[in-house]
Amino acid sequence: MLPFISAMKPHRTELYQDVPSTCWPIVYSPDYNITFMGLEKLHPFDAGKWGKVIDFLKEEKLVVDDLIVQAREATEDDLLVVHTRRYLNKLKAGKLAVDRGWAINVGGGFHHCSSDKGGGFCAYADITLAIKFLFERVQGVSKATIIDLDAHQGNGHERDFMDDSRVYIMDAYNRYIYPGDGFAKRAIKRKVELEWGTEDTEYLQKVQTHVEGALNELKPDIIVYNAGTDILDGDPLGGLAISPQGIVKRDEVVFKAARSRRIPILMVTSGGYQKRTARIIADSILNLHNLGLIDKELATSGVENPKVEQMLRNSVADLSKLSLQ
Ligand SMILES: [Zn+2]
Repeated sequence: MLPFISAMKPHRTELYQDVPSTCWPIVYSPDYNITFMGLEKLHPFDAGKWGKVIDFLKEEKLVVDDLIVQAREATEDDLLVVHTRRYLNKLKAGKLAVDRGWAINVGGGFHHCSSDKGGGFCAYADITLAIKFLFERVQGVSKATIIDLDAHQGNGHERDFMDDSRVYIMDAYNRYIYPGDGFAKRAIKRKVELEWGTEDTEYLQKVQTHVEGALNELKPDIIVYNAGTDILDGDPLGGLAISPQGIVKRDEVVFKAARSRRIPILMVTSGGYQKRTARIIADSILNLHNLGLIDKELATSGVENPKVEQMLRNSVADLSKLSLQ
């Protein structure tokens, strides 16, 4: 599933570079705002969702363009197509999460995609790749926890990490909808199967219990949080009934659990494409900021040991040597 990566000839690139500490660890590229790969078949698609999230955050004066981490314009030599650029953003976001303690990729979270199979609609396994990249390229990262709270089961990364004891997977999803992948379920350490129409109180209680439980069971070096918003009431495919406030609260619960344990967290926004979705994601990011759970200062880094932190900051990944398989 990685032909475009293996085929990349070694070459110089500036796509992966040190991100100035004045930047928010929020990764976004206007490339996100297109339909692609049949994604719209599974999720009714608000093609502009990701751009709108950023617009809302700008309106609220949380971010300005220069302080968001963007994909650099690709040179011809980079052989980059849109998908590759998205992929690079994901790697960048993973590294940023380790450096800063948190990062949000406004986009990403294609969790039905496994690295050997398209998974129906996913072009590539971005969560798998982000974790493998961190394992292989960033010292000090050898255990990861995936917290997948999209309405759908995340069978892609589950198949990828089936026999990998370095990765702990918690997944909460509507048990009756796509993909119902029984084989992949074997990889889930904490399985939270939800009924049709599950509402805030029950949902949040389960999320809290199992996120805390998962992190108490194993303290990872990185959390990848798949924050799908297709749990929202009215989503035609998710079949759950969580309110906008419930989603904001859910993200808060996850970030509190991660930050209080000083575990770096990478959030991806995944599914959920109703008209009001972008506003909810923006509100959630603003709420995290208001509560002091995210800040752009390096002082809030999740890395406790300053020497380790310095080492991480110095270990800029060299894309020209990249050969994830
Ligand atoms: Zn979904």
